[in-house]
Amino acid sequence: MSVENVIIIGSGPAGYTAAIYAARANLNPLVIEGYQSGGLLMLTSEVENFPGFPKGIQGPELMSHFRAQAERFGTRFIQKNVTDVDFSKSLKRVMIENEVHEAKTVIVSTGAATKWIGLESEQRFLGKGVSSCATCDGAFFRDAKLVVVGGGDSAMEEANFLTRFASHVTVIHRRDTLKASKIMQDRAKSNPKISFIWDTEVLEVLGDDAVKGCRVRNLKTGQVSEVPCEGFFVAIGHEPNTAFLKGKIDLDTKGYVVLNDRPTTKTSIPGVFAAGDVQDTVYRQAITAAASGCQAAIDVERYLESLH
Ligand code: NAP
Repeated sequence: MSVENVIIIGSGPAGYTAAIYAARANLNPLVIEGYQSGGLLMLTSEVENFPGFPKGIQGPELMSHFRAQAERFGTRFIQKNVTDVDFSKSLKRVMIENEVHEAKTVIVSTGAATKWIGLESEQRFLGKGVSSCATCDGAFFRDAKLVVVGGGDSAMEEANFLTRFASHVTVIHRRDTLKASKIMQDRAKSNPKISFIWDTEVLEVLGDDAVKGCRVRNLKTGQVSEVPCEGFFVAIGHEPNTAFLKGKIDLDTKGYVVLNDRPTTKTSIPGVFAAGDVQDTVYRQAITAAASGCQAAIDVERYLESLH
């Protein structure tokens, strides 16, 4: 089995940028992209804040550019999920079911996945009116009444996007102030199709074959009521994709990879680096993920040089 210089796990902005830099440094990187390549931007519509695209660009199109640029310099790709890793020896082992790949270094850039409220009814109605992706599912809800849960940029973005199809969108938030950026808040608040229910948690998604509404409780008054809707969109943030790293590398209490020597991308294991949302609890932007992917590739280069 040949030993790779670097295996990059994950294929969002961080992973592909790491691949572009590593490939241009002649490291012949191998990217294990996962079954759903491209990361969270594949679920986004218009990206308006990625520098270099003054008119905006669709998320999937942006990711296809990232990938093509990595490929141009000789990156190799595997479209499967990593199932396990062994970082206990100096040669790192990355497993894809029974397939084993060995590498001198690894960049972990597996990003984050949708966070759910945690209701049994929420999972029961998945694909039957419950969704976490307005871009994917919004068009199924023409002239419908919709609910969006959350108070961050994701919730505002989803709510605004959904008004293209919906007759009305109700944002349900557990506080009386939003976490979203000012521009996203203003856009949502000035949209005549969007209204807000504040200080409120969702107790249950209601329906029989399909969603018909949700039962909610006002957290200040305790009053329980029902909000009719045909679609229920959850936009309450994300969780890092690190289940396969448990016990293999230092993670924080929320599961994010801990970086030991910021601003470098070094993890608790020499030769293993982390980039993008998997280690970022603060910024979580495509551009910051891409930047940390670049840093990780440079850290890899320096680490490999130090081995000689
Ligand atoms: P976020 O900023 O963490 O916001 C999550 C929201 O969901 C918060 O308002 C939070 O409430 C609420 N929430 C969390 N857990 C909940 C639960 N169990 N039940 C009910 N509500 C819950 O996440 P995000 O909106 O996904 O944004 C993540 C990052 O991506 C941010 O940095 C954001 O700026 C960025 N982003 C940017 C854009 C853009 O610029 N176009 C679009 C999307 C995301 P609390 O307020 O009470 O904490």
